[in-house]
Amino acid sequence: MADSITAEHWFLAHEGRLLQRDDQIIFTAADVGDTDVRYGVDDGFGLAVLAQPPVGLTAVDGLRGLLARSVDEVEYARLARASQLATWHDQHRFCGRCGGTLQAHPQDMARQCPVCSLVQYPRISPCIIVLVTRGDRCLLAHSARFPSGRYSTLAGFIEAGETAEAALKREVYEEVGVKVHNIRFFASQSWPFPHQLMLGFFADHLSGELVPDGEEILEAGWFGVDDLPDLPPPFSIARQLIDHFFAVKYDSSTE
Ligand SMILES: [Zn+2]
Repeated sequence: MADSITAEHWFLAHEGRLLQRDDQIIFTAADVGDTDVRYGVDDGFGLAVLAQPPVGLTAVDGLRGLLARSVDEVEYARLARASQLATWHDQHRFCGRCGGTLQAHPQDMARQCPVCSLVQYPRISPCIIVLVTRGDRCLLAHSARFPSGRYSTLAGFIEAGETAEAALKREVYEEVGVKVHNIRFFASQSWPFPHQLMLGFFADHLSGELVPDGEEILEAGWFGVDDLPDLPPPFSIARQLIDHFFAVKYDSSTE
């Protein structure tokens, strides 16, 4: 089925990475060549996985920058999906049960083992991301992975068997030692680094004082609108949570 996928516009990938030529990341059917590893990405857009990239194409450098420059949610989602499919294809070449070489599934967006029939769908890893608030201040933390001076919301992977709400309470308590309640869903965002689905929430502080765990989180504090530190870029759901919180506070205080 995969080789029957046709599209006008193509992302190209090699060894799990999208390819670019200078600033170009969308190619034509003529650039796809004869590869039969093809996936549908979006209406009119496909992803072709190449065994050998043509001369002049290099792995995309700076996926974050490309996502940040997306003109709208459709373009963001298309790029996020193409990147995740490229990674998934590269990391799911063999059957995890019997070691058979996976092949394109005849109908689904999936790969299947020809020996034992195990089906592998594109991997998505759900995560919670939460802005904890206390009055007119919000909890922002500096992670060991961040640039110097950058603070953001807390986030973490949902574990097997866990609900999003339980994961949120666990992550917040593990990382900074406070308990939260009144959890409200805000929005979600595909985050292709490499395959997270970020589920964004607000939660209110319930009890406890901030004690960073010293490993994942190095510093944490309650920040108000007038003393905000360096924040994540506007296209991230972390920043959208922060901006939304203060926008609502500002609107209500001016009425
Ligand atoms: Zn198998």
